[in-house]
Amino acid sequence: SKKAVVIGAGIAGIASAIRLAVKGYTVEVFEANGTAGGKLGEVQQSNFRFDAGPSLLTLPQYIDELFELAGKEPSRYFKYQKLDVICKYFYEDGTKLTAYADKDKFEEEMAAHIGEPVTSTEKQITKSRQIYELTNPVFLQKPFGGLKSFFTKDGFKALLNIKKLDAGRTMHRANQSLFKDARMIQFYDRYATYNGSNPYAAPATLNVIPHLEQHYGAYFPTEGMYSIITALVKLATELGIKFRYKSPVESILLTGSKATGIKVNGEEITADVVISNMDIWFTYKKLLKDQPRLHPQKVLQQERSSSALVFYWGINKKSQKLELHNIFFSADYKAEFDHIWQQKTIYHDPTVYVNITSKLKHRDAPPDCENWFVMINVPANAGQDWDTLITEARKNILAKLSTRLNENIGKLIISETVLDPRDIETNTSSYQGSIYGTSSNSKYAAFMRHANQSAKIKNLYFCGGSVHPGGGIPLCLLSAKIVSELVG
Ligand code: FAD
Repeated sequence: SKKAVVIGAGIAGIASAIRLAVKGYTVEVFEANGTAGGKLGEVQQSNFRFDAGPSLLTLPQYIDELFELAGKEPSRYFKYQKLDVICKYFYEDGTKLTAYADKDKFEEEMAAHIGEPVTSTEKQITKSRQIYELTNPVFLQKPFGGLKSFFTKDGFKALLNIKKLDAGRTMHRANQSLFKDARMIQFYDRYATYNGSNPYAAPATLNVIPHLEQHYGAYFPTEGMYSIITALVKLATELGIKFRYKSPVESILLTGSKATGIKVNGEEITADVVISNMDIWFTYKKLLKDQPRLHPQKVLQQERSSSALVFYWGINKKSQKLELHNIFFSADYKAEFDHIWQQKTIYHDPTVYVNITSKLKHRDAPPDCENWFVMINVPANAGQDWDTLITEARKNILAKLSTRLNENIGKLIISETVLDPRDIETNTSSYQGSIYGTSSNSKYAAFMRHANQSAKIKNLYFCGGSVHPGGGIPLCLLSAKIVSELVG
């Protein structure tokens, strides 16, 4: 049979491997680290377990699909539950808001706590759904190259100008036109951060994101996010896929303009198909560094998405006030994003996200304790003085949480690990530690990610958060689907 090699065991690399194995390919996956998952990793810290990166699961059907393709029953490998409470929000003015999955309940909550009329949310829901219906079939589910067969470049731009796609103004402007209350605008602006973008710059097309969460739902894997990876690796292994850990690929081998294999640990491995799950920037700059004429300069110069600063805290108490997902908003969202994107630093009052998997998976923390994953959005790594910024941010985060929760949180921390943009960059070869590849901070950026197939090198394909259609688990899984269709 034909042989495929996959560079990287991130979620998209594993999904691509599974899809090709189902097609009859012999597949080998080469992973630089000792474990699979990439950004979707796990942290063990004394008696606490944490999911290292992603914490919010949407569209789990794209995971199920992989088991179904292989003729297996998904729930025998991977279990998840739908959340009734998607997220709890704390505003600096003292407002608390619970985002219920149930639409009517959520609208009641908003009317009661914020006073925004239900008609505004109804309008938002309709808009968000319309954008989804327009973009999903032609954009998310299709290869970028494929779009060219649908549209000429000008036609494509015309598509972007369709009023319903709302690409002509920013997310923030669109939300301003829908909602009267600043707290509601902030609530909907936050969805820009789901792909590491800035709501004051990203096109309102990204207002499609709330539809995915509010209409299709938010989920929690019963065994935590990392169980996505263990389940998929189990399936892959059953399909005969070989995983080679601690195997950093050094280069992609070319014969003329054809990819013919890879070089890893000094050894040359030939293959009919090469799929890179490595960040597109490093794929060119490291694995194809001797071929600068093949580098797509424009794509490589694109602005990167934001990064993250995460504190994994073992907390020696159980909080009655928190849910699985919690957001503590900054008082001045505009100033926070200006600090991230213009000044490339951390604002003194950042929006703080707290995720506590032990609320649902009790074994993730010892009895009477909780595992707090505390994250803020930060700029991509451009050589900032992170150590100083982190010390400052930690102090500000603790002060904020302590005030809002009316308790000295610092005193409850009994163990701690920190993840910053430098770690993300080195641990997973993600350029500048950005967590979603390139940003979507301009009208066309979201549509201009690198394609899933090389235009210049035959048999070379790309998957993962840095290429089309984008970052985040569902889109990474779609990139794998597109790759398998392109491979043929
Ligand atoms: P990556 O996870 O980037 O993995 C790439 C793999 O390739 C790595 O294992 C790396 O070691 C390996 N590799 C790289 N170069 C080589 C080489 N030369 N040879 C061998 N191996 C190599 N997404 C969501 O959907 N929901 C969330 O809530 C969410 N929150 C996030 C929070 C944080 C803190 C982070 C960091 C990310 C978050 N994301 C979230 C984004 C999500 O994690 C990513 O979009 C997704 O996991 C990226 O997967 P990927 O397939 O692109 O590969």
